[in-house]
Amino acid sequence: MEKKTGLRRKSGYIIACVLLLAMLGGCAASKEQKNKEQISEGSSGERTEENNEASHDLFAMDTYMTVTAYGAHADEAVEKAENEIMRLDALLSARDEASETAKLNQAGKGILSEDAFFLLKRSLELYEDTEGAFDIAIYPIMQAWGFPTGEHRVPQKKDLEKLLPLADPSQIICDEENRNISFAREGMEIDFGGIAKGYTSGRVMEIYQECGITSGIVNLGGNVQVLGRKPDQSLWKVAVQSPEEDGSYLGVLSIENCAVITSGGYERYFEQDGTIYHHIIDPATGYPAENGLVSVTVVSEDGTLADALSTSLFVMGKDKAVEYWQAHSGEFEAVLLDENGTIYVTDGISDHFESDYDVQVVCKPQN
Ligand code: ADP
Ligand code: MG
Repeated sequence: MEKKTGLRRKSGYIIACVLLLAMLGGCAASKEQKNKEQISEGSSGERTEENNEASHDLFAMDTYMTVTAYGAHADEAVEKAENEIMRLDALLSARDEASETAKLNQAGKGILSEDAFFLLKRSLELYEDTEGAFDIAIYPIMQAWGFPTGEHRVPQKKDLEKLLPLADPSQIICDEENRNISFAREGMEIDFGGIAKGYTSGRVMEIYQECGITSGIVNLGGNVQVLGRKPDQSLWKVAVQSPEEDGSYLGVLSIENCAVITSGGYERYFEQDGTIYHHIIDPATGYPAENGLVSVTVVSEDGTLADALSTSLFVMGKDKAVEYWQAHSGEFEAVLLDENGTIYVTDGISDHFESDYDVQVVCKPQN
């Protein structure tokens, strides 16, 4: 993929890559399968229960994940978290024929579990809130492009136009009382791909808390959520991914108790006749969203919201995304990278974002 991000480095402010990677420590995802459960040493060298670390890598939801917790109950917490990830993957994946989502898609109706019903309701609210940018009914269009199977193709415009009326979440009928769902139009199908990982990382934080953990992190294919602070009480350092393939970062966020979730067209795509087609679809057109953004990172205490909004703001483009943040600025912060290489950071997180590139801070309008 040709990279024209045009990022501008600050003069005289280049963080050595080695230093940066050292800072990232436990945040970077390892692609090897390893089962590392160890008692680490305290500052005086003794082994303590408090700094006991349990960490496990797994592959689920089509991505590599690392689940890490600290403290006396870390082993139990990591095991429970992993079971929960596998359970949610089996429940939510549209591609797995046995999942609730796939069964609902096949039958056009069905009774959902609490998790799937919650996600469906949240997705419908976000469809309204984002004025259609977040659209779980996008699945027929995802299939037309061949994204779920990997058999990519560019659909004909007339075929996409026929599918667009199906990508309409207002045609999903919900019976609150018994979690009964039905689709008003035949052929409708839903896909939680834009929200499921954030919900899952949020669930992992809940499990950590139930196990008495006060410090932990989960990395779901670059989508990170942290509980509390690091065991040494410093803030977690989370790198904001760059579209460059050289392992560089846009910057580093210092955070506690929140999710950092990125969406970018460079993450999943195919190329045909010299054009790149990526996996985030603009529900208004049925084509991959091309609204001037290269990547969107959302920071929020609510993992579900962070995931859905990273996809939505990418679809909206910079100006609408900024307006959306201004109207909802208590709920999340964001780092946006546009096609010209400009990084925009919202006011609420700018003091916690370190970058060796030029950064523009986005503020709320003055009254
Ligand atoms: P990733 O899952 O790669 O981290 P995203 O969170 O941005 O990236 O989600 C992209 C996925 O969301 C797509 O693969 C597809 O399943 C689904 N999707 C694509 N376009 C939309 C959209 N406009 N609204 C909601 N979900 C979408
Ligand atoms: Mg998302």
